[in-house]
Amino acid sequence: NEPLELVDPEIAEVLKNELGRQRATLEMIASENFVPRAVLQSQGSVLTNKYAEGYPGRRYYGGCEFVDIAEDLARDRAKSLFGAAYANVQPHSGAQANAAVLSAIAEPGDTILGLELAHGGHLTHGMKLNFSGKLYNVVSYGLDPETFLVDMDVVRQKALEHKPKVIIAGWSAYPRTLDFAAFRAIADEVGATLWVDMAHFAGLVAAGLHPNPVPHAHVTSSTVHKTIGGPRSGFILTNDLELHKKLNSNVFPGQQGGPLMHVIAAKATAFKLAATDEFKDRQARTLSGAKLVAQALTSDSAKAAGVDVLTGGTDVHLVLADLRNSKLDGQQAEDALHAVDITVNRNAVPFDPRPPMVTSGLRIGTPALATRGFGDTEFAEVADIIAQTLTETGNVEELRARVAKLTEAFPLYPGLENW
Ligand code: PLP
Repeated sequence: NEPLELVDPEIAEVLKNELGRQRATLEMIASENFVPRAVLQSQGSVLTNKYAEGYPGRRYYGGCEFVDIAEDLARDRAKSLFGAAYANVQPHSGAQANAAVLSAIAEPGDTILGLELAHGGHLTHGMKLNFSGKLYNVVSYGLDPETFLVDMDVVRQKALEHKPKVIIAGWSAYPRTLDFAAFRAIADEVGATLWVDMAHFAGLVAAGLHPNPVPHAHVTSSTVHKTIGGPRSGFILTNDLELHKKLNSNVFPGQQGGPLMHVIAAKATAFKLAATDEFKDRQARTLSGAKLVAQALTSDSAKAAGVDVLTGGTDVHLVLADLRNSKLDGQQAEDALHAVDITVNRNAVPFDPRPPMVTSGLRIGTPALATRGFGDTEFAEVADIIAQTLTETGNVEELRARVAKLTEAFPLYPGLENW
């Protein structure tokens, strides 16, 4: 029963340093967030000890009377949050949710149609080294080379041409909303199943600030740890009972063994919080923060330095900086922001002239800072720091000091030590 510091000081040091890093830097990786302490508590709890293969009321192990309550709460809250008839909250991650979805709705060798990885799609939507690319015949729709938007005429043409079994709508890097009704009409026209992967924008949907895919899609998958800001994990929603049964058996025993009950309990808490006004306010600040970053990177001075933003702005929680004409490539820009204690990731722009390890873009997200408490005033300051860094017009030490002022004004996990 000795504490971590005594049992494993090296790992205790990792935890301490990571907490220090998160506190002292501005986290702007679009897929990251800070979970509430209540979520940390469940994840670090005795529920990690429990085996619970099966589903509530139908387990293959005894002693599940309490974890059943947690899973029922997680399922009911997920259903009510997104207006879905059925939920599976067992996927360990977004990728595992997606593996279960695909195995439920397609057979190996079937054709699947999704957004091209290099244009903002996800690995699980057909990347060749991923299970999805290995098991299925993958065709992709790309973005329009002028507007960088999904063109529904192109999606329809591809669907008519390839007659896919599955059409995938969803993305990892795209700054606009998708037309789910149009996707469904195309899926119906060609007899495909529409699967929406809302991993990135689920928090915005929960807050009513983004179109809800659930009424349109046959099946919707998501992560819990991005805009929702819950534990690292996935879940799946559908309105179709037969599909729900298939999804259940494809999660367990299809893809997974024992569910992570400590994580499922934490999901229940995250979904409870996502139904509050405070959560809605946070998502609204996330959106307006992203708009402020986009504004700063499309100003005349930014444009004069070759910095721009794909699609000219954003409707979601992230901005895609376009550095094709700037002095700094994606790698250099990521490093320059790192030097002023802002964490982002470089990201290929569609039709990127530079290699994938270098890229000509950045993906900049606001969810974690909104969770930290930032509003328009702070986001305007952050946006200016980013713009000065990318246009190389600021002094690095001064910019770092401005970042430090923000991190100090918005302490992260105050009072939390030794985690
Ligand atoms: N789907 C989309 C659209 C994503 O962006 C991601 C994560 O990057 C995932 C699925 C996979 O989530 P995880 O990293 O939990 O496997």
